[in-house]
Amino acid sequence: MKEFLDFLRKGKFRVPTCNNCNAKIWPPSNICKECFSREIRMSKLDPEGQLIEFSESFIDKNKNLGLVEISGIRVIGIINDGNVNQGSIVKLSKCGLDINNSPYYEFTPT
Ligand SMILES: [Zn+2]
Repeated sequence: MKEFLDFLRKGKFRVPTCNNCNAKIWPPSNICKECFSREIRMSKLDPEGQLIEFSESFIDKNKNLGLVEISGIRVIGIINDGNVNQGSIVKLSKCGLDINNSPYYEFTPT
C-alpha cells in the first residue's frame, strides 16, 4: 500500500483504518477485509505495545526480534534492549524502510 509506505519512509507509523466500519487493516491493504470498503484513512496509533514473543538472535546479538502487539495489530520488530521478557511494555521508537524498501520497526522498553 503506497500511502502506508510513504508515511513509513518519513519514519511515521500510520495504520490504514476503514472509514466505514473502523476496522484496522493489517497487513496494510487498499481494501477493508471486513466490509470491502475502499474508504480508508491513515490513523496514528498509540506507540506503546506489549511484547508477545521474544527471541534472542544467535546470529547477531544486536538484532533481537520480537512480536509486538500495538493497538490490536501485531508487528515483528527489532527490540533494542535485550533486557525484556514476554509481556514487557515496549514503545515504537523508530520505523522506516530499509535499503531494500522493506519496512522495519524498532522497539525500546518503556
Ligand atoms: Zn470496513
